[in-house]
Amino acid sequence: MNKHKFETDAIRNQMPASQNQEHSAPLYLTSSFVFNNAEELRAAFNEENDAFIYSRYGNPNTDEFVAKVVQMEGAEAGISTASGMAAIYASFMALLSSGDHVISCSSVFGATHTIFTKYFPRLGIKHSYFNADDPSSIEALIKPETKFIYLETPTNPAIEVIDLELVGHIAKKAGLLLLVDNCFATPFLQKPIEYGADIVIHSATKYMDGQGRVLGGVVVGRADLIREIYLYNRITGASLSAFNAWVLSKSLETLSIRMERHCENALQVAKFLEGKPGIKKVKYPFLESHPQYDIAKKQMRAGGGIVAFSLSGGLEAGAKFMDNLSMIKISPNLGDSRTIATHPASSTHCKLTEEERLAVGIDDGLIRISVGLEHIDDIIADISKAISNSIK
Ligand SMILES: *Cc1c(COP(=O)(O)O)cnc(C)c1O
Repeated sequence: MNKHKFETDAIRNQMPASQNQEHSAPLYLTSSFVFNNAEELRAAFNEENDAFIYSRYGNPNTDEFVAKVVQMEGAEAGISTASGMAAIYASFMALLSSGDHVISCSSVFGATHTIFTKYFPRLGIKHSYFNADDPSSIEALIKPETKFIYLETPTNPAIEVIDLELVGHIAKKAGLLLLVDNCFATPFLQKPIEYGADIVIHSATKYMDGQGRVLGGVVVGRADLIREIYLYNRITGASLSAFNAWVLSKSLETLSIRMERHCENALQVAKFLEGKPGIKKVKYPFLESHPQYDIAKKQMRAGGGIVAFSLSGGLEAGAKFMDNLSMIKISPNLGDSRTIATHPASSTHCKLTEEERLAVGIDDGLIRISVGLEHIDDIIADISKAISNSIK
């Protein structure tokens, strides 16, 4: 399916021009489409052709965005959704029934964790967690009711790397589906389908947009599974807007060059932090000190744009670090052209006790930096100043 290299297809794979011969794909802001007669309408509803019907079902812009991601991930088919969480929830609801069980890595995105712990029990769906640093423990968690294995790699915010090849083998051997949230790596750095993933999910809000403008989600993978997820999402209504799809398609044209720079800057930030006074540890997949460095090298083209590090001063030093940043902003987003910092212990994970935080890999002094596209000298200068002021 790939005619050219990743970078070329990302730009050249776009919807065919209309009779107006646009060079850049136009935006179709229309909620519905018109039929010339009853027979055309019948054929469209009967799926005898690809005619657009209503934008909750699909739209030229959402189709274009999905086609680009399908090609990038090497998938058979895909669907788009209103956000990353809509993509995750629709995938779960389309593939699971009451009584089913799923196995997930314990360090998942916060809202995904809430689906497992708050909403699954209401539906009679069970889950078990495995530790990202020990995926071989999955085998012992498999039950007759287990439907799929779910994971993110690298994980958030601890930046652990999970061996996709190993988990792919475990899933295949046990006849389980494998679902991967590939948000942190993007298809430019890592293609889970090559390791046996059946479904790959993205929050397009992050690196796919890459400029902090729109929400979006996308699910790609095996055509029969995608069909079920598509039907669920089209019925329950979390459809991606045509405008957001149009923005995202344009953004994907520059995904590779943005990711290259994110990774280059992040590696430099990680190297700068490693061994610095006041820093306990630095986690970045392409640092040799990373416990899963070899796995990261095997399955990722580069280390990604997120660096995590721990300040020895714990909670207080973490908060001080945040307050002493000037160019870098505090925001819960990531994958933006602007460098962003978060301190999980005083924000996303503040309701947990210190012990609970440690159990999910969050040290009280842990800072997560989503390294942006600014000049590396300015990024490092801001981080360096905030560290000096926080360890005083
Ligand atoms: C942000 C994020 C999500 C959720 O995506 P939204 O677009 O915010 O709904 C899911 N998984 C990961 C890893 C994320 O970073």
